[in-house]
Amino acid sequence: MKRWIASLLLGLYSISGWAFEFKVEPVADNVYAVVGEIGPRTPENHGLNNTLGFVVTDEGVVLVGSGATPAGAKLVEEAVASVTDNPIRLLVNIGVQDHHWMGNSYFADKGVPIKALARTVDSQRQQAVAHIGRLSSQVGDEAKTVVPTYATDIVDADRQTFEFGDVTFELLWPGDGHFVGDAVLWLPQTRTVFTGDFVFLGRLLGIHPTSPVAKWQQSFHEIEKLAAAHVVPGHGHPADMAKAKAETGDYLDWLITGVSKALEDWQDLGDTIEQMGDAPAFAHLQFFDGWHKRNVHQTYMQLEAAR
Ligand SMILES: [Zn+2]
Repeated sequence: MKRWIASLLLGLYSISGWAFEFKVEPVADNVYAVVGEIGPRTPENHGLNNTLGFVVTDEGVVLVGSGATPAGAKLVEEAVASVTDNPIRLLVNIGVQDHHWMGNSYFADKGVPIKALARTVDSQRQQAVAHIGRLSSQVGDEAKTVVPTYATDIVDADRQTFEFGDVTFELLWPGDGHFVGDAVLWLPQTRTVFTGDFVFLGRLLGIHPTSPVAKWQQSFHEIEKLAAAHVVPGHGHPADMAKAKAETGDYLDWLITGVSKALEDWQDLGDTIEQMGDAPAFAHLQFFDGWHKRNVHQTYMQLEAAR
């Protein structure tokens, strides 16, 4: 009990499931981040190596993201219940990657409506089989419990403002990013943006063949225009826009600028990776050693193909 009070005073709430600690962190008035593992997906963390969140309104809770599996979704539900007795009344999907939506079936079975942009749903449908395959290599048999379940309220536009209880939300697509069809949720009253995987904090972002890096860079600058006071990232702890810029926007700018120059100079791939292998401004980020050179490689392949 005392420990619970101590964590309440600290403004941190923890949900333990085996060795996995799920942290609920207050972001703004009635806005919370649910911060999962910063490291890789494992069976113990149910693939929840990302950040979700929720908003407590006077009509119930609006949940942003559902986790990677039904069991993970239940942990997300418990995280919400650790700070409010209000029921979850709406689930919003802003992400295409597994851990942002593959727990949807758990909430759909309880009758919770799910809202998403049409382009997010289209991309989820295209990626579902590949993502479940990858998930099974990371969390094992639990991946078999995933029942791909899509939004019930599909928004056929790139921007929609809606009210839920006493809170105004704006679901919008700033351009593609980590995945085609990723979106953000903007709360103008508290100047909070749930960026999903457009922003990675504390760990280096990863550019996959399915991540259009030049578009991601532009999308980041679109998100900056919201002038958010609070950023709930797709991975990592909530922060402000300055930190999001330092750890995600600046890195995308650095990659694009450096690789574009290398291509103009007719520099080959191997020399470019070698030359850009050190990036002191970002070397402190987790996974830098494993991901950075792959990111330079992937950026080079994409920008070269686009020339
Ligand atoms: Zn992610």
